[in-house]
Amino acid sequence: MTGNSIFASDFKDEPYWWEAFRPQAIEASSLPQKTDVVVVGGGYAGLAAARALADGGVQSVVLEAGDFGSGASTRSGGAISAGLSVGKSFTGKTLAYAPDFVREVVGWSIDAYRSLFELVAAEGIECHLEQRGRFLGACAASHYDGLRARYEKLRAGGATDCHLVSRDQQRAEIGSDFYHGGLVLETAGKLHPALFYGGLLAAVRRRNSITLAGQCRATSLTPANGGWRVTTSQGDVQARHVVLATNGYTSNLVPTLQRRLVPVASHVIATEELPPGLAGKFCPKGRTFSETRRVLNYYRLSPDGKRVIFGGRARFTEIDGATRARLLHAALVERVPEMADVKVSHTWQGNVAFTYDALPHAGETEGLHFVVGCNGSGVSMMPYLGTALGRALAGKLTGKDGGKLPFADAALPRIPLYSGSPWFLPAIGGAFRALDYFDERIR
Ligand SMILES: Cc1cc2nc3c(=O)[nH]c(=O)nc-3n(C[C@H](O)[C@H](O)[C@H](O)COP(=O)(O)OP(=O)(O)OC[C@H]3O[C@@H](n4cnc5c(N)ncnc54)[C@H](O)[C@@H]3O)c2cc1C
Repeated sequence: MTGNSIFASDFKDEPYWWEAFRPQAIEASSLPQKTDVVVVGGGYAGLAAARALADGGVQSVVLEAGDFGSGASTRSGGAISAGLSVGKSFTGKTLAYAPDFVREVVGWSIDAYRSLFELVAAEGIECHLEQRGRFLGACAASHYDGLRARYEKLRAGGATDCHLVSRDQQRAEIGSDFYHGGLVLETAGKLHPALFYGGLLAAVRRRNSITLAGQCRATSLTPANGGWRVTTSQGDVQARHVVLATNGYTSNLVPTLQRRLVPVASHVIATEELPPGLAGKFCPKGRTFSETRRVLNYYRLSPDGKRVIFGGRARFTEIDGATRARLLHAALVERVPEMADVKVSHTWQGNVAFTYDALPHAGETEGLHFVVGCNGSGVSMMPYLGTALGRALAGKLTGKDGGKLPFADAALPRIPLYSGSPWFLPAIGGAFRALDYFDERIR
C-alpha cells in the first residue's frame, strides 16, 4: 500500500498503543471453587475494583472473556479531563436535574481526575500521564456562542482554569483554521492508555488475593447459598458478591443491564511519524483536541510527539479497517490540510457504552453490583468508580466504612424502545451527521 495510498507500508489494523503493551493471555491454572467476589470484566473498572477489594482484605476472581486488555481500556484516545456534562441524553434530549445533583456529579468528575494521578503515582505506573489542557473547537459560529455561555457558567461556578480563544488567536492552540474559535480547559491531560492498563494489571498481579482468569467468559449467574453461582466457560465459582464491569461489551448475562447500555463503536487512526516541524505547528502546547459537533472527533499527538492519534465516531457501528482509515484520514485533512500526505500507520476500534442520561453509573441491580456507562469518557472515571465500588464492597464484607459510592442513588435509566440490540444506531448516526452539516454549512 504505497504511492498515492493513504496507508503506510507497515500499516496495521490494530491499536498503535499495542506496540508498547499488548493484551495479555493470563489463564488461571484452575478456577477456585469459592471466593468472596467475582468481578466480570478485566478492563480499568474491573481491575480497579479487584485492587480495592484486595486492599480491603477481600479475595476476588476477575473473569475476562478475552485476553486481559482486549476491551476498550487499551484502545482509547487517552484524553482525560476534570469535567462531565450533565443533562444531555445521547438522543439529544435535555434532561432536568436538581442543582445539588449537578454539583455532586461535577465534584465526582474532578475527584476522578485527581485520583487518576494518585493511582499512577501510588503504583509507579509509567504511562506518560501529563496535564497539558484541552482545546474544544467550535465547529460553527453559533457553537462559539454556546462555548461562551459555557465559559460564563464555568466562571460563575468559580472555575479559573478555562479561557475562550477567538478564531484569530486559535493558531496559538492548534495548527488549523477549521474552528470558529474555542474554549481551553486547563485541567485536562492525556496518557498512554495501554501502558496505564499494563501498570494497573501489574499492580493487581502483585496482590496475592486476586485470581485472574483470561479467556474465561461468565455465561450465567444463579442465586445460590446466600450468594451467587457464577458459571463460566471454565467451570463454576461460588461467590458472595458479583461485580459487573463489562461496559461497552455487556451481553445478555444480565438483561436488565444490557437494556440500559448502548454499545457504540468508536474509531481511531494513528499516523506515521510527521515530517520535521509539522508536529510543533499542529499542536504547539501539547493539548488534546475535541469539538462541539454531535459526531465529534478527538485527537492529540502520540506521547513521543511524533504522530497524530485521531479518533471519532466515523460510524456508530463496526466498520472495516480500510474504510475507517479513509474516513478518519479525510476528517484529519479537513482540519489540518498540511496532513494530506501523512500516511496512516494503525487503525482500530472499540466499544463505548452510552447510557440514556449520558452519565456513568455504579450501583446494584437484582443483588448484583455494577460499574458501567463511560459514555466515551472513562479513562479516569472507570478506574475511579471501580475503586469506589471495590472499597464499598470490602467495607460491607469486613464491617468497616467503605465510603460513599458515587452515583449509587441515581437510577440507571431504561432506554425507551430498546431491548439490547441497537438497531437505531445507523439512523441516529446519519441524523446527527445531517444536523452537523446543517449547523456548519447551511445555517
Ligand atoms: C476508541 C475509543 C476511544 C476512547 N477514547 C477515550 C478518551 O480519549 N478518553 C476517555 O476518557 N475515554 C475514552 N474511551 C473510553 C474508555 O476507554 C472506557 O471508558 C474505559 O476503557 C472502559 O473501561 P471498562 O473497564 O469499563 O471497560 P473495558 O475496558 O471495555 O472492559 C470490559 C471487559 O469486559 C469483558 N467482558 C464482557 N463480557 C464479559 C463476560 N460475560 N465475561 C467476562 N468478561 C467479559 C470484555 O471482554 C472487556 O475486556 C474510549 C473508548 C474507545 C473504545
